[in-house]
Amino acid sequence: MLQQSAGDLDKAFRSWWKSKGNLRAPRFKRRSHAQSVRICGKEFGPTDHGVRFPKLGELKLCWSRDLPSPPSSVTIIKDCRGQYYASFVVEVEERPLPANGKAVGIDLGLAALVVISDGDKIAPPEFFRSALKRLWRLQRNLKGKVQGSNRLAKARGRVARLHGKVADRRIDVLHKLSTRLIRENQAVVLEDLNVSGILKNRKLSRAIADAGWRMLRTLLEYRAKRYGRELQIISRWEPTSQTCSACGHRDGKKSLGVRTWTCSACSAVHDRDVNAAQNILAASPAARLNGCGAESKTGLPASGSEASTRLDQGGQLCLA
Ligand SMILES: [Zn+2]
Repeated sequence: MLQQSAGDLDKAFRSWWKSKGNLRAPRFKRRSHAQSVRICGKEFGPTDHGVRFPKLGELKLCWSRDLPSPPSSVTIIKDCRGQYYASFVVEVEERPLPANGKAVGIDLGLAALVVISDGDKIAPPEFFRSALKRLWRLQRNLKGKVQGSNRLAKARGRVARLHGKVADRRIDVLHKLSTRLIRENQAVVLEDLNVSGILKNRKLSRAIADAGWRMLRTLLEYRAKRYGRELQIISRWEPTSQTCSACGHRDGKKSLGVRTWTCSACSAVHDRDVNAAQNILAASPAARLNGCGAESKTGLPASGSEASTRLDQGGQLCLA
């Protein structure tokens, strides 16, 4: 266990140094945060009812699923709610789904969580927003409690449980959405957004954090790999909101309030987000799959999936 901790610390410092200031320095763990311990290799063995550790004996578990292969490590996690989880590292087989040749572009937004290039819009869950009132009340309840008292601990537990519930619901929606996108499409095209940069925009940050864009991308990445699908990330500097997806005319900057606009060249009427999603699709090499490669008349150069580390100007460029 101690070796694991030392290894984790080593990894944290290495990536911090490597990032040259882009990442936050490693911080000390706190007793009030989630706690975890990782146990490796031959020091544990899964049994029918749980996991057996030398000297400690058997820890009973509620299995949420069968392990597909012998685990190489187990992490026991106690989250801030006081719930315990066991997380195993296992090897899984890739299970490619039959190819279907479909490709979609996806525009991440706030009015809709995602807009798919075929016109489908997924409503934003806004779980955090709906929990805000209750959260304020619970947090007010922390005031005036004595440090270290049982009452403070209880009140903190209530806040943590509400936060946990919100997080559970959000991840559930994102799991279902990413599963659906990967199952229905051969290629999914996303825009590379500098999420932590946009989060600095105070007006939008709460809504964006609530939407969980980055988590969606992470889930899509691993599902694409596992099911033999393709996930493509196009550069965030593509003018996807400004270009007409029908004729390729560049119509100039649109402020966030403009939901629909008419192309001044071909007078096509566009829904802002659907148009952007179609441009995202057209800007990627995956467009060929749909046979709409010929439509690269949008003049958007296909770009690689190289993630850019440049900071944007307060999120303006990404959202324009
Ligand atoms: Zn046009």
